[in-house]
Amino acid sequence: SNEDLDSVALPSPSVSASSSEHRWGDTTSYAVKKKLQFWFLLPNGNWELGKILSTSGAESVIALPNDKVLKVKTETLVPANPDILDGVDDLMQLSYLNEPSVLYNLQYRYNQDMIYTKAGPVLVAVNPFKKVPLYGDEYIEAYKRKTIESPHVYAITDTAIREMIRDEVNQSIIISGESGAGKTETAKIAMQYLAYLGGGSGIEYEILKTNPILEAFGNAKTLRNDNSSRFGKLIEIHFSETGKISGAKIQTFLLEKSRVVQCTEGERSYHIFYQLCAGASPALRKTLNLKSASEYKYLSQSDCYSIAGVNDAEQFCVVMEALDVVHIGKEDQHSVFAMLAAVLWLGNVSFIVIDNEDHVEPVEDEGLFNVANLIGCDVEELKKALSTRKMKVGNDNIVQKLKHSQAIDTRDALAKSIYACLFEWLVEQINKSLAVGKRRTGRAISILDIYGFESFDRNSFEQFCINYANERLQQHFNRHLFKLEQEEYIQDGIDWAKVEFEDNQDCLTLFEKKPLGLLSLLDEESTFPNGTDLTFANKLKQHLNSNSSFKGERDKAFTVSHYAGEVTYDTTGFLEKNRDLLHLDSIQLLSSCSCHLPQIFASNMLAQSEKPVVGPLYKSGGADSQKLSVATKFKGQLFQLMQRLESTTPHFIRCVKPNNLQSPRLYEQGLVLQQLRCCGVLEVVRISRSGFPTRMSHQKFARRYGFLLLENVASQDPLSVSVAILHQFNILPEMYQVGYTKLFFRTGQIGVLEDTRNRTL
Ligand code: ADP
Ligand code: MG
Repeated sequence: SNEDLDSVALPSPSVSASSSEHRWGDTTSYAVKKKLQFWFLLPNGNWELGKILSTSGAESVIALPNDKVLKVKTETLVPANPDILDGVDDLMQLSYLNEPSVLYNLQYRYNQDMIYTKAGPVLVAVNPFKKVPLYGDEYIEAYKRKTIESPHVYAITDTAIREMIRDEVNQSIIISGESGAGKTETAKIAMQYLAYLGGGSGIEYEILKTNPILEAFGNAKTLRNDNSSRFGKLIEIHFSETGKISGAKIQTFLLEKSRVVQCTEGERSYHIFYQLCAGASPALRKTLNLKSASEYKYLSQSDCYSIAGVNDAEQFCVVMEALDVVHIGKEDQHSVFAMLAAVLWLGNVSFIVIDNEDHVEPVEDEGLFNVANLIGCDVEELKKALSTRKMKVGNDNIVQKLKHSQAIDTRDALAKSIYACLFEWLVEQINKSLAVGKRRTGRAISILDIYGFESFDRNSFEQFCINYANERLQQHFNRHLFKLEQEEYIQDGIDWAKVEFEDNQDCLTLFEKKPLGLLSLLDEESTFPNGTDLTFANKLKQHLNSNSSFKGERDKAFTVSHYAGEVTYDTTGFLEKNRDLLHLDSIQLLSSCSCHLPQIFASNMLAQSEKPVVGPLYKSGGADSQKLSVATKFKGQLFQLMQRLESTTPHFIRCVKPNNLQSPRLYEQGLVLQQLRCCGVLEVVRISRSGFPTRMSHQKFARRYGFLLLENVASQDPLSVSVAILHQFNILPEMYQVGYTKLFFRTGQIGVLEDTRNRTL
C-alpha cells in the first residue's frame, strides 16, 4: 500500500536526516525504484533532490546533484514530482503534495520572477524585494481581457469583481502574512486593479491617495520592514450598479501607540514625525517652533533617523498633497501638524524633584512652553496635569503630587493619547471624504491587510491580541475552504463521506469563554485595583490548566497552542496595556485647551464610554466614567469584522517573506516552510488531501493513460476507457471516485500512473 506515502507529518527541517521518528509510509513496496527522484533532508535543514541508485529495503543508496553518493534510511526519503511538473502554477497539480515539493515549486517559480502561485483557491505571493515586471496598465488590461492566465493579484481581484457582479454578493480579499511579507504592497496592487476597472468618477483617485496618508501616520521602520504597518486595516470599496467605484470606508485596528514614546534601537517612530521635521516649510517651522528630528527625545532614543532610499522631505509633500485630495482643509492640516509637534515637544518635557521631597514638577523650559502653546492651554494648567493627580477619598477631593516615574508615565500617556486620537480622527475625516452617497447599492469589495501570526522569543500583549485575531481568521479560512471542497464534490455527484478537518475551536474557546477564558480573566484582573501581572498569570494557571490549548509556565508566563504552533506569552505589562488609562486630569486638560484637540479628542474618548464597560476610564478615585479595556474593544472590532466577512465571498492571499534581510534573489527554505505552515498554505493542502484532491476529466484521463491498456479500446467512450485503466492498474476502489464529468483521486494515485507512463514512453 502506498496511500499515505505523502500524507504523514513532515519532519521539521531541524530534524537530522537520519532520524527515524518520522515515517513516510512504506516507500519500499513500489516507489523506491531506480532513477526515481526523492527529496532527502540534508543536515543543514534544506531538502535536496536525489536519485535512487539502489535499494535494499530499509536502506537505499542515493546520488545527490553534486555527484555525492549517500546511503540513507529509505523511510526518510520523500517522493519528488516528475520533472514535467516543475514550476506548475497551482500546487494542486502536483502529484506529490509534500512540503519539500511545495517549497521547491515555489522556489523554482521565484527564481524566474514568477512570485505568484496558486494553492487551490489560495494565492501565494513570495516577496521579490525588487521591482518585478508584472504590474501596470498593460498587465491590468491583459488580466481584464484574460489573455494572461498565470496567477496574480490582478487575477484574484478580477475574479472578485466578476463574482460580485454575477452573484450580487459582496466580496473580500483577505491578505495575511508576517511583517515584511508584502501584505500592504499586495493590498495596493489589488486597489490599483479595482481603481482601473471601476474608475471614472474620480473617487478612485482619492481612494488611492489614502495609502500615503495612512502609511505616513501608521507605518514605521522596524527591524523587519522599513515600511511596517503598525495597525490593521480593512478598506471597503463600494460599487454602483454599473460597476463603478462609488466610495469607500476604512476601518483600522489596534494602532501600536507605544511606538510614539518608545522604540527599539535601529527602529523609527511613525514616518510622519521625520517627514514633518525634514519637510516643513520655513513658515510652518517657525509657527510650530520645529527643530530637526535629532533634537526630540522621542525620536533620538532609537538612534535611527533615515531609511535607505527614502527622502522624508519629499514624502512630506506627497502626504500634504494627499491630504488635499481627501479634502482635509489647510487649517485642519495645520492643526494636525501642530498636534504632531506638541507630541514631539512633550517628549522633551523633563521634571525636577522639589524640595528634597518625593514629588516632581516639570521644568519650565522650551519643551513645556511649546507644548502649552501648541495645544493652547495655560502653562500652569499643563504643569498641574503633568505633576499632580486629583483623587476622591470618601467625599473629599484631594490633590496628590506625582513621583518622577508617575510623572513620566503621565506625560507619555498624554503623548500616546494625542497621537492615537489624531490617527482615529484622520481616518474619520478620510471616511467622510470617501463616503458613499445615497446611491449606494450595497455591493462592495473589502480588502483586509492585517498582521499575521507572530511568534517571537518574547511575546507580549500585542502578540496576544494579534494571534487571537489570527485564530479567528484561520477558522474563517478553514470553514470556507471546507465548504468549497464540499460543493465541488456535490456538483459532480460524488458520495462524499464527511471529510475531517482540524478545527481550532478549542483555542478560540480558550480565549473567549466566559467567565473563565483568557480575555475574561484579563479584564477581570484589570478592574481590580490590586491586580498585577503576577496575580493575572496565577489566575490563568488556576482556572485554565485543564484546557488542552493552555499551559502555565514559570515566571508569570503561559503558553497557548495556536493552530500555527505554540507561543509563550510573558504577562509583564498585560494589565497596564489592557487598561490603557489616561488620567482625568489629562482628559480635562485636553478638553479645555483652545486648539483642535477637544473635538478630535472628545469624539473618540466619549464615544467609547457609551458602550458596555469593563474598567474605569480614569485613574481617579471615583470611577464616574468608564472605558472599554483594549482587549474587549479589540474583540468587539474583531467580531464585527468577522460578521462582515461572513457575508462576503472570500479570496485569500498569503504573503511569504523569502528571507529576513529584505534582499532579492534569496530564498531560505526553512523560513519559507515555517510561514507556509503558519499561514495555512499547507493546511489547504492538508484539507484537500483528506478528500480527493486530484481531479481529471474522463476525456483527459483516457487520452493520457489509454495507451497503457493491454487491450485495444480505441472505439470506447472516455468513461469506459477510464474505468478500464483503473482496473488494469488495480487502483483500489477507496482511492478514487467517478464523478459525472471527472475522476477524483486520493493524493499520489495519479503519480503511480504518471510514473508508469514515463517509463513506458
Ligand atoms: P507587510 O505589509 O507584509 O509588512 P510590505 O507590503 O510593507 O510588507 O512589504 C515590505 C517590502 O517588501 C516593501 O516595502 C517592498 O520593498 C517589498 N515588496 C513587497 N511586495 C512587493 C512586490 N510585489 N514587488 C516589489 N517589492 C515588494
Ligand atoms: Mg504592512
